[in-house]
Amino acid sequence: MDAKTRFAKRITSLPPYLFARIDEKKREALSRGVDLINLGIGDPDTPTLPPVVASAQVAVTRPEHHQYPSYEGMLSFRTAVADWYKRRFSVSLDPKSEVVGLIGSKEGIGHLPLAFVDPGDVVLIPEPGYPVYHAGTLFAGGESVFMPILEKNGFMPDFDRIPEAVFKRTKIMFLNYPNNPTGALATDAFFEKAIALASRYGFILAHDAAYSEIYYDGRPPKSFLSYPGAKEVGIEFHSLSKTYNMTGWRVGFAVGNASVLSGLLKVKSNMDSGIFQALQEASITALSLADSVLDPLRALYQERRDVLVPGLNSVGLRAFSPGASFYLWAALPTGITSEAAALSLLDRAGIVATPGNGFGPSGEGYVRFALTVGPDRLKEAVERIRTHRLFGA
Ligand SMILES: *Cc1c(COP(=O)(O)O)cnc(C)c1O
Repeated sequence: MDAKTRFAKRITSLPPYLFARIDEKKREALSRGVDLINLGIGDPDTPTLPPVVASAQVAVTRPEHHQYPSYEGMLSFRTAVADWYKRRFSVSLDPKSEVVGLIGSKEGIGHLPLAFVDPGDVVLIPEPGYPVYHAGTLFAGGESVFMPILEKNGFMPDFDRIPEAVFKRTKIMFLNYPNNPTGALATDAFFEKAIALASRYGFILAHDAAYSEIYYDGRPPKSFLSYPGAKEVGIEFHSLSKTYNMTGWRVGFAVGNASVLSGLLKVKSNMDSGIFQALQEASITALSLADSVLDPLRALYQERRDVLVPGLNSVGLRAFSPGASFYLWAALPTGITSEAAALSLLDRAGIVATPGNGFGPSGEGYVRFALTVGPDRLKEAVERIRTHRLFGA
């Protein structure tokens, strides 16, 4: 390759894209006309709530929204976020200094290390996990140290296994509960321990709460910021994407420690120019809706979960019932790798699922199913697995 077009090391050192082979097979199957059941992607299949769409329709016609927005977001948007946090989590936030709007939470997660991480600094990252924590760290020249989240520990990292020398070099620890890909929730004791460590070693705790509203059995998870001392050490990332079926709109926010947010804002003000104000108006509408408007959405995912968990367990997998999120993490019978399972699901049953090792080495031996199709299709998926005896049962 021409030296000019050779990619920078920060790009070439990104982990290989493990889903490439599955994607290729998926395209092949589609072109053969296979009736695919796609449980691969984490993107809600139902539309944005109608009042939010209606609010955007009006807002885009207003010329005052056609100019550059502010970097941090309109004060009315940040106030709506603070009000929502108060209502939903009983957490008080100052909208002026403790809320920053994001162009989707992925943007903020990716940018955070640029504000705080120098070469030689460590970022602690849960594994298997959302790939952006590592990509952002790599782009900032930091060193990712992965914290395995294992079934035997309830899918929470075991902090006792992290050497003190590593904690001393740590600038940021990312955590993500409700968890993608496992659907696990964290305990109070776990959050309290994480906050104590962040406070002792002086690192930033960055909690990704993208799935806090997609919960089951009427049991809403808490905010990380509702624990004592949390705001002194960290921030929480949130997103309208999963809560209001708004993945395409790109609206999220970060809340919590004002100094951490001011660092993030320094990066952002040099890299982007904020969220389109019309979308902020629509987001205010979304955040101001009564919480009960989300009940039908939660009921929809719960019905799907309650079809797929027992279904998979009846055909030789060991599926974990998520406490929140729309993912189902399933252990494979011993001897079957994640990739072999994903390939045979696709080739023999026309089912797209995500191999667990794509989220990190500790995901080997698992497959992730997204609950993004209706119950009849999920039943069909289970029957296809049974017919072909893919997992022995
Ligand atoms: C979907 C997701 C996000 C949010 O993405 P947006 O950029 O807000 O759409 C953040 N974290 C995790 C773990 C996710 O799965």
